[in-house]
Amino acid sequence: MKKIISSLFIVAGLFVLLGYAGVVSASTTPKLFMDGKQLVTDVDPIIKQGTTLVPLAVISRDLGYEVKWDNKAQQATVLDKETSIKLTIGQKVGYVNDKSYELSQAPSLVKNRTMVPIRFVSEVLGLKVEWKQKTFEVLLTSPVKPTPTPTPTLPPTPTPTPAVQEATVTGVVLSEEGNLHIGYTGTLGDPKVMLLPADANNPARLVVDLNNTGYTYELANSFIKGQTEVTLNGYASMTGYRFSQFSSNPLVARIVVLLNDGVNYQVSRSSSEVLISFNGEVHEQPSDPSGTSPTPTPTPTPPATGDSVYHIVLDAGHGGKDPGASNESLGLMEKTFTLSLTLKLKQQLEQNSKVKVHLTRSDDTYPELSERVAFAQNIPGVGKKADVFISIHANSFKTNPAVNGTETYYYKENSKQLAQTVHSAMISSLGLADRKVKTAGFKVIKETTMPAVLLEVGFLSNTSDAKVLFDEEKQNKLAKDLAASLFQYLNV
Ligand SMILES: [Zn+2]
Repeated sequence: MKKIISSLFIVAGLFVLLGYAGVVSASTTPKLFMDGKQLVTDVDPIIKQGTTLVPLAVISRDLGYEVKWDNKAQQATVLDKETSIKLTIGQKVGYVNDKSYELSQAPSLVKNRTMVPIRFVSEVLGLKVEWKQKTFEVLLTSPVKPTPTPTPTLPPTPTPTPAVQEATVTGVVLSEEGNLHIGYTGTLGDPKVMLLPADANNPARLVVDLNNTGYTYELANSFIKGQTEVTLNGYASMTGYRFSQFSSNPLVARIVVLLNDGVNYQVSRSSSEVLISFNGEVHEQPSDPSGTSPTPTPTPTPPATGDSVYHIVLDAGHGGKDPGASNESLGLMEKTFTLSLTLKLKQQLEQNSKVKVHLTRSDDTYPELSERVAFAQNIPGVGKKADVFISIHANSFKTNPAVNGTETYYYKENSKQLAQTVHSAMISSLGLADRKVKTAGFKVIKETTMPAVLLEVGFLSNTSDAKVLFDEEKQNKLAKDLAASLFQYLNV
């Protein structure tokens, strides 16, 4: 029942604006315009393998941003209200507020001038950038301007490579759920993903770059002003998206999604498509992927119990035939971790006589998800439902092993406080990256009615996280800290 809405593919035979086979030659000088006024520079802007580099002076003198130059580090820092951009001569990595981003071209020195990739800098600063292939013009449109400052001076070197096309984008389609499917053929490496923060003029933008990737002839020919732009209404995830051949050498296909506030996204890749999804999930399957927004159930927390003890059900994720996520190179399986932490947590919790713990599994077996739900709804031998349900998992994102951190999921409103309490405990206990408390309709937390959470303690696909997850000492500490947070939650 997935109706796919195709993007607009206008066959505009007249407008062959941007091909993808090295159309741009390095010897041509592009003209630079700011709000319609041509900018004159002592050193001409250059195009290096499809990327326009301009003298740093343009950023300070013409665009009016504060620029600092560290001669020793060969590093320029461009400052805007809450944004700092660090660019280093010869380095293809730029930093925005200390988060690293890959640049299509390294800043370089030309005639003693620092040349920086104008599109990257402009997009981070919230300027609109348009490239006119026909006339070789870069058009910049300003947001609000801060005050100007002087320019630096300097020395060293950059580097080039030949354009290779290994993959071809065959279609960009939006599903009914608001996920973006980017179909491709050929061999595709991991997408490069960066998030540009919202500013006065732009919403937050998710930028996905596919390296060594072109478009089919039809898609490339349908570009208007070098891109296809789609504006949307009524989608929870985004207000629109656009895609273009961002660079012709190296060949980079770029997809930009205009995100709505506070949306969680995931970018994953299969053998035939790159999926930008907004269900907030990586490997666990929500029981109802089409309706993952939680239904507010006005049951306040913490639980009230007539009993003298609180019954906590701990659910060690996966087990038996289902190993869950794995890290092959380290020989680790999620089911081993979940059981190990569950048993340690049980031991810690039972130090408190006000708490009784029940396990959905205590060995390497696999209870079905529906059995786990039934267990929590009517604990065998107790004859009532649990007061708290905790499902323990580890995450995985194999296409990007750099993804790491801790997240906590809840579904019903009555579980939010529990989620926040245990999440804080995990973050301070392990110190892994904070991927926040999120909502998703996983069966075990959706179909149970007591406060219920699902913990994704860390990413097994990330070597550093995986080592923490399987460290006995860290597990013991986490069990202790989680138990303490639950005692605090239950006020026992
Ligand atoms: Zn899992």
